[in-house]
Order: sequence, then structure tokens, then C-alpha cells
Amino acid sequence: MGETTQEDILAALGGIKDPDRDGDIVSLGMISGLQMKDGHVAFAIEVDPERGAALEPLRKEAEKAVHALPGILTVSAVLTAERAEPDVNAPDMNAQVSAAPGIAGAPQAAPGPDEPFMPNIAFIIAVASGKGGVGKSTTSVNLAMALSHMGLEVGILDADVYGPSVPRLLGLNGQTYQSDGPLLAPMENYGIKCMSIGFLVEEDNPVIWRGPMATSALTQLLGDVNWGVLDTLIVDLPPGTGDIHLTMVQQIPLAGAVIVSTPQDIALADARKGLNMFRKVDVPVLGIIENMSYFLCPDNGKRYDIFGHGGAKREAQRMGVDFLGEVPLDMVIRETSDDGIPIVHSDPENPHAKVYTEIAERVWTSVTEAREKGEGAAPKIVVD
Ligand code: ADP
Repeated sequence: MGETTQEDILAALGGIKDPDRDGDIVSLGMISGLQMKDGHVAFAIEVDPERGAALEPLRKEAEKAVHALPGILTVSAVLTAERAEPDVNAPDMNAQVSAAPGIAGAPQAAPGPDEPFMPNIAFIIAVASGKGGVGKSTTSVNLAMALSHMGLEVGILDADVYGPSVPRLLGLNGQTYQSDGPLLAPMENYGIKCMSIGFLVEEDNPVIWRGPMATSALTQLLGDVNWGVLDTLIVDLPPGTGDIHLTMVQQIPLAGAVIVSTPQDIALADARKGLNMFRKVDVPVLGIIENMSYFLCPDNGKRYDIFGHGGAKREAQRMGVDFLGEVPLDMVIRETSDDGIPIVHSDPENPHAKVYTEIAERVWTSVTEAREKGEGAAPKIVVD
């Protein structure tokens, strides 16, 4: 039992022909994200979006072929369509991914019928942004710090495959990951536990950015890390609203999501896509934060609305979600963030640090009240 290797799995899959093309599904490069652990196997079969539904028998055949190998307990194969930054507003965009029975397929992502995934974490909260560079990670880290200062046990999971930066922002750069028995030990600083997808994804390897790899890495980091008992885990999502994001938010039992945007129209348009994405999978959007909202000149005390101002608040009203607060563009925020000493930790009495604290209080009230009312359960998988 248990002698089967990844090569054996590929050999078994190599016996399956693509019904429409000349060749088998391995040599045609259709298999990706192959994962095997303790007899549980997961992989993705990449197909053209147009062929999606027609290839369901192929998917089943692939699962069956792997299941027949010695020691294999479960197999989760998923059809996935690679696309460049699809528009979440477009209908049927994610039909294949959404219909997938557990794309990550890592064993810990498939709890028993009555067993919640990550039962020791009370509230998992995502921090998202429609595009990069708006200060999502800085916000995640300062929010985590503020929640920790409220007396909560807090962890932060850096799921930003495009630029995992949370360890640096938390002053954890250079620290190596240790195992803790069969689990990974989280890194820790300022009382916050941290794990980063930077551990599992290889930098400069484009293959790794494909959805299945990123999403299985994410579920591994959730399930294979010894988080202990946490009041809340902040998940710093990759910027954007594409297939990867949608699959990620489906994989995590999110209590809610916070969207960070700058005030520019263009950033707000992307934030709107983020809102739609979370709504599509029934994840409550806890609200929008306007970052780099205005610049308070330290020389003359004058305020400059560099990117315009108030756009996120108007957008929040328009979309019917809470506006959580505005964080100014500030040198101290940048310096403390990039030096790995978040402002909420280094100078909690600073007015900008207090903005994060107020936002954290709003977020916490929102998730706990929703839980009391029985809302904010794990997202359901949407079958379009
Ligand atoms: P993202 O996660 O959206 O890519 P980061 O949090 O990494 O963005 O921030 C990008 C850059 O902007 C970093 O150098 C960070 O220090 C800086 N930054 C973020 N928020 C602010 C702010 N409110 N004021 C000044 N600099 C900021």
C-alpha cells in the first residue's frame, strides 16, 4: 500500500487519450497541479473553455485510472480553463472552475460531512484588492496588528502569489519555516502568527501561477500549518478578480472580506469587480477601505487629495456595503511598513494607526454580529 509515486500517476494518466486531439492528456500537457499526500491525489486537467462540459467523461476516466493504483484512497480531478484575467461580471466565466468538486483537492480541504474546515479558527477574513499596489498587504498587516491589540489571537496567511510580502512587512524576512511534527510551524512576530505562500510557490516560475497550483498551495497552508486556536486569521489575497481568486475564495470558509482601494476611478472599477466576485460566492463583503486617501503635508499641515478623495465611500454607498475608513498617504506608514514594524505596533497612538484600529473594530463587530445572527457561514461552491 502507498507505493504509488507521482510518476505512476502520470503513467496511468498517460493512457488516457484526448477524444478530440491526437495524443494523451499527459503528453498534450493538460495535467497540472498534481498533488499526492497520504493516498489522496488531486490534479487539474486544463482544457479549452469551449470544450468544458463535453469533457466530463474524460475527467471521470482520469479519476478512475488513478484510483485503480495501489494505495490511492481518494482522487480529485478538476477541469480548469486557463484564461488571462477574466471579467467577473461576465456570465459563465468560471463555469468550469465553479463546477469543480474541490479543485485544490488536498486531503485537508475535504473535511467529513459534519466537520468544519479549520474548526480552530473562529473567523477567517480575506483582504482583497482589485489591483496591485494599492496597499492591500500593508492594510492586512496593520489590521492584524490592531485586532491583536484588541486582545485577540491573530494569524495572517499571505496568499499573494504575485508578491508574497507579509513576512517582510511583519519583520520576518529571512526566517525559515520549521516543521512542527507533521505540520508546518507558523512564523511569529509581534504576537501574530504568519505563514506565506512564498514558501510553497517558486518565484520566477510562471507555471506556478496557474490556478490549480495556487489554490492547492493555499489549502495546504491553511490545513498543514499548526495555527493553534485563533480568534481570527487574516488572508492577504493576491490582487485581482480572476479565476485564481474565485477558486481561492471558494476554498476558504470565509467569514467575510474587506476590499482595499485607492480613490482613483480606475482602482474603484477594479474594486467593484472584487465586490461582485465575493457576492457571486456568497462571501459577505464587510466593507471597503480607501487607502492613500489623501496626503497631509508634514511641512505645512495642508491636506492634498492627490488621487481625488471620497471615491471609495461613494462606491461603497452605491454598492450597498459599509465604508470602513480612509487611510492617508503617509511617509510613516510607508517607512514602518517597509521596515517590518507596522505603524499600529510601532506607534499605536499615531492618528493613522488609530484609523486602522477603528477599522479593525468595525470589521470585528461586523463578523461577530453576523455570526450571532447565523450569517457568514462557509461559502458554497457555485455551479453555474
Ligand atoms: P499591495 O499589497 O496592494 O501590493 P502594499 O501594501 O505592498 O500594496 O503597498 C505598496 C507600497 O505602498 C508599499 O511600499 C507600502 O509601504 C506603500 N503604502 C501602502 N499604504 C500606504 C499608505 N497609506 N501611505 C504610504 N505608503 C503606503
